[in-house]
Order: sequence, then C-alpha cells, then structure tokens
Amino acid sequence: MSEQSMTKGVVFDIQKYSMHDGPGVRTLVFLKGCPLRCKWCSNPESISTAYQVMCLADQCVSCGRCIDVCPSGVHKMAAVSNGPPLHQVDRTATCIGCGVCARSCPAKALRIAGKEMTVDEVVSVIMEDQFFYLTSGGGVTIGGGEPTFQPAFAGAILRQARLNGVHTAMETCGQSTWEVYRDLVPYTDLFLYDLKHIDPDRHKANTGVSNERILDNLARLLELGANVVVRIPLIAGVNDDIDALSGALSWLEKTAKKASNLKGVEVLPYHRLGESKYQQLDEVYPMGATTGHTDDQLKEIEKILLQFNLPTRIVRHG
Ligand code: SF4
Ligand code: SF4
Repeated sequence: MSEQSMTKGVVFDIQKYSMHDGPGVRTLVFLKGCPLRCKWCSNPESISTAYQVMCLADQCVSCGRCIDVCPSGVHKMAAVSNGPPLHQVDRTATCIGCGVCARSCPAKALRIAGKEMTVDEVVSVIMEDQFFYLTSGGGVTIGGGEPTFQPAFAGAILRQARLNGVHTAMETCGQSTWEVYRDLVPYTDLFLYDLKHIDPDRHKANTGVSNERILDNLARLLELGANVVVRIPLIAGVNDDIDALSGALSWLEKTAKKASNLKGVEVLPYHRLGESKYQQLDEVYPMGATTGHTDDQLKEIEKILLQFNLPTRIVRHG
C-alpha cells in the first residue's frame, strides 16, 4: 500500500447518486474545513476542522446514555423545572470523534460531523459505483467545506480516482495558493469554481476574505486550460443587484475571452436548506429572514445574464 493511499483527512459526508455538481451520476465527498465564512453557508458543520456533535433536540428522550459513554464530557443535562432534564452539548469540551455517543443513542438524535478516513477508504467508497459512472458519464466530486483546506488529502483522492478511470471534479471557493491549484490540474477534470462577489470589499464583508486571490486563481486556471464552471450563489441584498452581477460577468467575459475551457456560468439561487443544521449545532442562522428569489425576480436576473457572451444559466431548484 502506498504512503499516499494511507494519507488521512477529515470527511464530514459522502453522498451517493447525486445528479448535481458535475456531469452524470456522482459521488460527492465533503471535506471539513473552510477559510471562508459565507453567511449563507448551507453546511455549517463543514467550516471547522474539529469534530462537532449535531443534535436533533426534538428526537432526544433525555435518557442520559450519551453522558455515560462519552470519554470527553461533551454531553450534559440541564434541569428543567416542569419537565424532564434537557440534553445539552458542552461546546467548550473537545470531541474526539469516536462516535460512541451517536451509536449509543436510542433515539438516533446524534450525529458526529467529521470522520477521519484514509485516501484508500474514501476511494473504495467512490469505486462502489463505478458502473453508474460508466453508464452516465459521471464520477466523483470533492467539495466541503473547502477541499483545498486539506490539499494533500484532496489531491490524493482525485489522483487515485483518476488513475481508476473515474471522472473527477472539485468544488472550490478559490481561496488557496496558486501552487495548490496548479498541482491539482492534472487530476481534476472539472473545477466548479465559486465567484461570490466581484467587489473586494463586499466580498470581504460577506465571506470574511477579500477576492483578489480567488480572482487570480480563476484567471490562471482558465489560462492554463483547465475545465471550469463558474458558480455564482445568488443572495438577496448581497450580489443580486445589477452592478454586482454585471461586474462579475464583465470580468469573466474579459478574462475568459475565447477560452473554450470555460464550460459554464451557473447562477445558484439562495435556499434555506441548511438552516436546521445551525440549530443542531446550537448556532444562530446568520441569514435571518432572508428569502430566496421569486420566479419573476429570476426572470429579471436572466435578462442581465443574456447581455453577456457567456454560457450562463440559472440553476433552479426542484
Ligand atoms: S463522538 Fe465520542 S468524544 Fe465526541 S461527543 Fe460522542 S462520545 Fe464524546
Ligand atoms: S443518548 Fe440520545 S436520547 Fe439519550 S440523552 Fe443523549 S441525545 Fe438524548
């Protein structure tokens, strides 16, 4: 067994039979850790590299078994005057990701976000669906979090999958060094590359980092001939105004020029699907009451997209 195949990383989910995030039927591998703090993030359990307990409070029956089995003192009970004690997670205690509490919970109320896996283990799961990739033109998409936050692990998974004849894609926010992207190009058939805001200050205000490095890496990937689909998450009050959209599309039009390797520009309307995960982590949903766009609003956005000589489309839900 090679040293690379034994490289370990932290995965928080593997989803099979996805029809999104690349062509054909895909296995999605989600890695933990992200350098951005996007307010609309639908995977809050992906941001930290630490193991995190997620609890479905409605399902808990207050049996206390998790307290008995946890070696790290993560679980506790709070007395309630007029009812059974309330299960709580001590977020200051360090979960070691053993998973014993989740396995012991009779109500299946607990999930541990984060599991250490080797490259070999991840690739074995990917290869279980080789038949579907062959018949659909699908493959594996590695995302997160931000996969370049664990560059050696992500690169080794892509490399091994590619050597096994699997189509490889990576979802990325673009916030890593150029050297990391350059080294991934030979093993990545498609980059799904986020462009959240063209204005550096507004990018920083909404994600925690400026966009210079992100734009620079995107321009270099296009110049190098990597296949790229640019994805713009459409967030009301953040980047859905004409200046923000036109600015991003103008930059892309100019940067990509005649690049046939720019395979698409997808606008992804905001949804609130990740909201319940914040509750499971005892966190406040940062988007407040922000709603998605109506069909009429999306039609207006579509008119802006059509003004540019780019392969744009809005990816509507459902
Ligand atoms: S995974 Fe292990 S360390 Fe973490 S909370 Fe559960 S029992 Fe405790
Ligand atoms: S083991 Fe499950 S049901 Fe029992 S207190 Fe813990 S979270 Fe609640």
